[in-house]
Amino acid sequence: MAAQTEFVIGTVCTVNLFDKGSPDAYREIFARLREIEARMSANRDDTEIAEINRNAGVAPVGAHPDVIEVVATALRYSEMSGGVFDPSIGPVVKLWNIGTDFARVPTKKELDAALSLVNYQDVVVDKAAGTVFLKRKGMRLDLGAIAKGYAADEVGRIIAKHRISRAIIDLGGNILAYGEKKGGESWRIGVQDPSSERGAHIGVLAVKNKTMVTSGVYERFFVENGKHYHHILDPKTGYPVSNGLLSVTIVADRSIDADGLSTSVFALGLQKGRALIESLPGVAAIFIGEDFSVRVTSGIAKDFHVSDPRFHTVDWN
Ligand code: FAD
Ligand code: MG
Repeated sequence: MAAQTEFVIGTVCTVNLFDKGSPDAYREIFARLREIEARMSANRDDTEIAEINRNAGVAPVGAHPDVIEVVATALRYSEMSGGVFDPSIGPVVKLWNIGTDFARVPTKKELDAALSLVNYQDVVVDKAAGTVFLKRKGMRLDLGAIAKGYAADEVGRIIAKHRISRAIIDLGGNILAYGEKKGGESWRIGVQDPSSERGAHIGVLAVKNKTMVTSGVYERFFVENGKHYHHILDPKTGYPVSNGLLSVTIVADRSIDADGLSTSVFALGLQKGRALIESLPGVAAIFIGEDFSVRVTSGIAKDFHVSDPRFHTVDWN
């Protein structure tokens, strides 16, 4: 059965099941994606996240295990990144409105007010009770940096359940390369060119049974007075992270980890980001700089090849 595409979780999702791709399997996968969106979108007011946000400073809210798992994992990445990854960044995200027709540069005063509500340490997950509590009124969760990864893992779980051995899943650039190509070869997955429109890639990564997730400046942004503002925000300043990087691609076994890390490592920057990746087993990263330099961590040094001559691989120093 041919690949299927739907617009869900705020993005274009394509699922390609290469064997035993039954209508049932496709139906179950897209139903699951819609269910995850219905629980976790920060852009709807009928989700569990919206309910948690409305009860900020008031009371803990009972949440589905999906939500508990994603919030708890997000908090782990906040710890691991020293707070540059922060799922309570919602008030700041809301101010900028990047990705909508209302995107604009907020005033310093607005940013300061919003920033005072951002602190992952004031997000309380009670796994035993199955609740999430935001300690202060006005706080707001935003799981946009990690929920797509969870969704990709859930698609992988359904694929395994249906005993499908090969599949490629693309949830708006969040890729799951499930199993291996027919004949036992690696999948060849393009790494997005962060300086151009969607579609072009700078090189190809050979992988089997891995997920690949990219965070960058090029997909969600707007331009005001000639300046480019992208969507990964610094929880200290409230402004888009500016550290010379165009994108970070993470390769890992679990997509929730790759997604959490793509945003964390982008915000950490080249050296701290590299140190974090090298400290984690089974995880690798590709950093692309504004100078079109490409740096790769040790885990995939021999699996990634740059093919676009405008980009050049450089060594670490
Ligand atoms: P990532 O780097 O993975 O994440 C960046 C996003 O994380 C930002 O857009 C912001 O939301 C948040 N963020 C920014 N800075 C930080 C930080 N320092 N720490 C932690 N998080 C940060 N988009 C729509 O336009 N309409 C929708 O209806 C919609 N529904 C969605 C529903 C779900 C369930 C999900 C998961 C996403 C939805 N989205 C929607 C997309 C979402 O708003 C983000 O744009 C998207 O998830 C960003 O993913 P990314 O991989 O591009 O970037
Ligand atoms: Mg991410």
